[in-house]
Amino acid sequence: MQDLLIDRNIIAYFSMEIGIDEKIHTYSGGLGILAGDTIRSSADLKVPMVAISLLYRKGHFHQKLEKNGLQREGPDPWPVKEFMQEMSARTHVIIHGRTVHLRAWKYEVKGITGLVVPVYFLDADLPENSEWDRTLTHHLYGGDNYYRLCQEVILGVGGARMLKELGYNNIRSFHMNEGHSALLTMELLDDEAKKAGRNHVTEEDCKKVHKKCVFTTHTIVPAAHDKFTREMAEMIIGKRDDFFGLDGVLYNGTVLNMTYLALKMSRYVNGVAKSHGEISRELFSGYSINSITNGVHAGTWVSDPFRELFNKHIPMWQNDNFSLRYALSIPKDDIWEAHMLAKRKLIDHVNKETRLYMDENVLTIGFARRAAAYKRADLLFHDIERLRTISNNIGKIQVIFSGKAHPADNGGKNLIKRIFDAKNALSNDIEIVYLENYNMNLGAMITSGVDIWLNTPEPPKEASGTSGMKAALNGVPNLSVLDGWWIEGNIEGVTGWSIGNGALADEKNKNLLDARSMYDKLENIILPLYYHDRNSFIDVMRNSIAINGSFFNTHRMIQEYVLNAYCCY
Ligand SMILES: *Cc1c(COP(=O)(O)O)cnc(C)c1O
Repeated sequence: MQDLLIDRNIIAYFSMEIGIDEKIHTYSGGLGILAGDTIRSSADLKVPMVAISLLYRKGHFHQKLEKNGLQREGPDPWPVKEFMQEMSARTHVIIHGRTVHLRAWKYEVKGITGLVVPVYFLDADLPENSEWDRTLTHHLYGGDNYYRLCQEVILGVGGARMLKELGYNNIRSFHMNEGHSALLTMELLDDEAKKAGRNHVTEEDCKKVHKKCVFTTHTIVPAAHDKFTREMAEMIIGKRDDFFGLDGVLYNGTVLNMTYLALKMSRYVNGVAKSHGEISRELFSGYSINSITNGVHAGTWVSDPFRELFNKHIPMWQNDNFSLRYALSIPKDDIWEAHMLAKRKLIDHVNKETRLYMDENVLTIGFARRAAAYKRADLLFHDIERLRTISNNIGKIQVIFSGKAHPADNGGKNLIKRIFDAKNALSNDIEIVYLENYNMNLGAMITSGVDIWLNTPEPPKEASGTSGMKAALNGVPNLSVLDGWWIEGNIEGVTGWSIGNGALADEKNKNLLDARSMYDKLENIILPLYYHDRNSFIDVMRNSIAINGSFFNTHRMIQEYVLNAYCCY
């Protein structure tokens, strides 16, 4: 079966990070989780795909938090051989004049109907390489700009070469999941030049490569678009006047900007939600940019109690996620019972890990995601006294946080500290916990085990967001700022609740206005519903599954990619 696929027109999916399993430390956040979910859905739906990433033997980092919320980072190694199979194929890339040899490790993602999508993790830790070069595939998002560009040469050029060594000679589309892998286009250009009997690339080659590439951009946050000076690019890649001289390869003639390189070389480009598509069109004017709204892999993120419930009422839900709309016919008592089982599992975990006593009958708010400043994890504490009063007078609340700050992101680290400060200030009134070392396992447990999923990004910076989709699949309503996917997912009072009205507030007042709206919704709508009209609260839970779970999944997403990005051109 697999040999057959190699001969068919296959999609090569390149991603700097891929989240396969919480024990395989090759991801840091939403980008990697999306990559893993994309691959899982492709396997389920028999979309022929092969994926490429880097191995990261030492992972991203392991997070420990001190009593005051100070983040301590440690290495996060994992046992490669327990999960992956070493391939005999070898290839190499030239980095800063040195030859760096590469091998690949294979992980097989098996779909529900048996199709396997192989994922190849590139590894430079070979005795043939210098000590320093051996570390090039050790750390995800570690090191400086030089280290990053070396990694991107390995991912893009090394990845494209490794695929050839592995026998993939008939790839229909190269999908760049974010710009990190954009240097794969240089290898494809070189292939075209070679075919034409030349040793330098030309605009002719660009036209051919353009037909083969697809690019998904994931963020509008400037720091997340990789840029390298021409000097550094030439130092690492080599003096390739033919490549750097191509129209549009260098941004403004001076910068190797991976986003612009990918934009220039791709026949299809998309953002990850409708609104993100629109903003990207403004940001990168002159390019045709579509949108395909992200999803999550339902089979991965549904908790065991809901899995059983869906199996009983909607037997084919894992093959056909659209059929989750029939959740509307599941009895409300059963929805509540499944939810309480998932909640108990989370609360038991919290009470065991910390010395808190959280109560399963108290409305529990969840907030877990990368601790980045624009996500405003501390917005809930904008007015501590108001929050205290709401919890004491309207209905008790408790809060579960989790999330890592990138080691170089002081803004994110301070955010965690501020949550610890609020936790102390509220310790007599509201139980608040910050679970260390957020990962896929915790993500699944928290998104399925709380009563309300809170999201407070600064619009329009949340391109999509996916954790709220995991919550929706598990019947957990969202309370979220209207940004990213929630602009499409929110039906007020039906699938959850909005914070603010979607208008971009002025810089100065945005925290105040959003916080006020959030407190108003909790005080006037959500807490009264939860404590005094449980029946109506469960309506919102069930609608979350039927209306949003059935749509915001990667099965629907990959079908859109097949129709719009992979097949039709
Ligand atoms: C789902 C998930 C994310 C993405 O969360 P967002 O809310 O979209 O930022 C990040 N990390 C982990 C571990 C996840 O499971």
